[in-house]
Amino acid sequence: MISIEEAQQTIFEYISPLETERVSAFQGLNRVTPENHIAPWDIPPADNSAMDGYAFSHAAIKGDRLRVTGFLPAGEKRDLPVPPGEAVKIMTGAPVPPGCDTVAPIEDVEQLDEWIRFTSPPKAGAHIRKRGEDIRLGDIVIPAGSTLRPQEIGMLSAMGVTTLAVHRRARVGVLATGDELLEPGSTPAPGKIVNSNSYSLAAQVLDAGGDPVLLGIAPDSLDATCEKIRGGLNADLLVITGGVSVGDRDFVKSAIEHLGGEVTFWKVNMKPGKPLAFAMLHGKPVFALPGNPVAAMVSFELFVRPAILKAMGRRRILRPKVRASLLEPAANKGKRPHLVRGLVSKGDSGYAVSLTGNQSSGRLSSLIQGNGLVYLAPDAVHAAGDVVDVLLLDREFEMGEVS
Ligand code: AMP
Ligand code: MG
Repeated sequence: MISIEEAQQTIFEYISPLETERVSAFQGLNRVTPENHIAPWDIPPADNSAMDGYAFSHAAIKGDRLRVTGFLPAGEKRDLPVPPGEAVKIMTGAPVPPGCDTVAPIEDVEQLDEWIRFTSPPKAGAHIRKRGEDIRLGDIVIPAGSTLRPQEIGMLSAMGVTTLAVHRRARVGVLATGDELLEPGSTPAPGKIVNSNSYSLAAQVLDAGGDPVLLGIAPDSLDATCEKIRGGLNADLLVITGGVSVGDRDFVKSAIEHLGGEVTFWKVNMKPGKPLAFAMLHGKPVFALPGNPVAAMVSFELFVRPAILKAMGRRRILRPKVRASLLEPAANKGKRPHLVRGLVSKGDSGYAVSLTGNQSSGRLSSLIQGNGLVYLAPDAVHAAGDVVDVLLLDREFEMGEVS
């Protein structure tokens, strides 16, 4: 049995970034650019006024007033120099005309017909945004490999970009297995349960920025499982749940092998989620996750989500890990590392975490009540107040709340 870290390393070695596609600039949000974006011009393109006010030559001020002989709104440019001792009214963003080096905001003058009087003495060079103070022609403004946030999109647009190349979204096939499964919409008959994994996993795919492809439910037979898997191979990655353990009706591993796949590993030293196979099948990574709803989601978090992010060009692919102080005692009586669902909060002295009760791997409520995975080493015995490692699955708890 290999460790979580070994399993992650093995998987990531098989994942390379998908090809790129062109999208309109703002649709590049949260995607990764494969190229350097170089400034085609200075931004701002010219010295311009940072305020609505009056532009003039500071050296030419005599006394406390200036005659106003022109008006310059944003969007217009004046080539005619402003004579020394005169001012032009200028609006925010308008290029500072020749002959001027200072702007006095409207708030700092008294306006008297054709004159202004300074109510506070202007400082030389004040209220002018210099050409190129944001970016300069030729700068690498957004390096290859950057994830595009709204600010990068805005900057690219200011650089004249309308469409850009980004790594494609990963298409991820999601296949459930099991004769006991019914699709949501039906009331479970005796012996049956409703398929939830397909939808929690599809949502995890979406959450990672991927594009889920629902492949339905494979009945528990080798032929049916093979057929469903074959049908999913036009996706970029395939995620299967259930049927990967040692039960009489577990066919996923043999189906992958039957189709020519090479199973790289089959068991990971962790709880929940020990039975977990990773295979390459016809060049596509295939993740066979456990059927238990918590085990499926936790394994997805640790192995599939980072693989999707890597396929989409990301380099930072692992959830943040924080140190948190236990709010209650915690023990791991088992021989495998236990990823216990916890509820992390943030106080004045850092992160704290409580546990979400019964940790049965079938109990999806344990994930609903929590927002993190507490790492408990084999045989660990912790008292309240001990500090443990926690993977943060979401950080909404750190956001401000309104009533
Ligand atoms: P398996 O790994 O196929 O033996 O499944 C382990 C447990 O997970 C069983 O109790 C299944 O009923 C349950 N399970 C498997 N697949 C799903 C699914 N798609 N949705 C909800 N529960 C499932
Ligand atoms: Mg099953």
